[in-house]
Amino acid sequence: MRIDVLTLFPEMCEGVFGTSILGKARDKGIVSLNAVNFRDFSGNKHNTVDDTPYGGGGGMVLKPDPIFAAVEHLLSPLPAEEVKPRIILMCPQGKTYTQKIAEELAQEQHLIFICGHYEGYDERIREHLVTDELSIGDYVLTGGELPAMTVIDSIVRLQPGALGNETSAVSDSFSTGLLEYPHYTRPAEFRGWKVPDMLLSGHHANIDVWRREQALQRTLERRPDLLETAELTPKDKQILERLKGSRS
Ligand code: SAM
Repeated sequence: MRIDVLTLFPEMCEGVFGTSILGKARDKGIVSLNAVNFRDFSGNKHNTVDDTPYGGGGGMVLKPDPIFAAVEHLLSPLPAEEVKPRIILMCPQGKTYTQKIAEELAQEQHLIFICGHYEGYDERIREHLVTDELSIGDYVLTGGELPAMTVIDSIVRLQPGALGNETSAVSDSFSTGLLEYPHYTRPAEFRGWKVPDMLLSGHHANIDVWRREQALQRTLERRPDLLETAELTPKDKQILERLKGSRS
């Protein structure tokens, strides 16, 4: 997989790209991660990439020409048969990012992220260049770098071989449609707080049942909205009815 990030602050991305799971995935050749400064494509001697908004008002607007030129530069060496990349604009007005979208984007061969700054983008970037607009939530950050890193991290960890333990992404919160069950590690007793007996029993089939019930309970308590779309077995539904009954 190849991921390019168009940004005015490539140094913000490099730290993330070189660290932990992403750094290892890059070293193993699972993903190529590149930060591209679109100021290099300004096409003017002052390297200007923004300008005041037509119609007046505060803030600066990112000009279309440097961003179009940077994307076109990234695409120009692509062989014709190569799948066209998704071009993703990070913006608070985009579709709210979810694990489902992460799973979908993780199947792509090439992604290009565009990180904004200042007041916003020239609307023609939205209309004529990008394929997707993504928001990481209903709040406004200074720039698109942290949102893009959030999305990229969640996509790279889904690539085969990126995580040390392949099963760990499978049971993650949201991947199963539920929040994940609670985890414990040694010591078995810490300051008088004990690990649940079931986890010490060594009986793996019973532990799986316990974990499923814990995941259902946790989701019911914290994110009951997820239960409307989660894939539930008749047994899950029975457990939920019992849990709801014991709460009322
Ligand atoms: N004036 C814009 C608006 O009201 O929609 C907000 C611009 S924000 C200060 C600057 C940049 O940060 C955006 O262009 C986008 O790239 C990024 N950004 C801010 N909040 C974001 C969010 N919740 N999700 C994704 N990107 C965000």
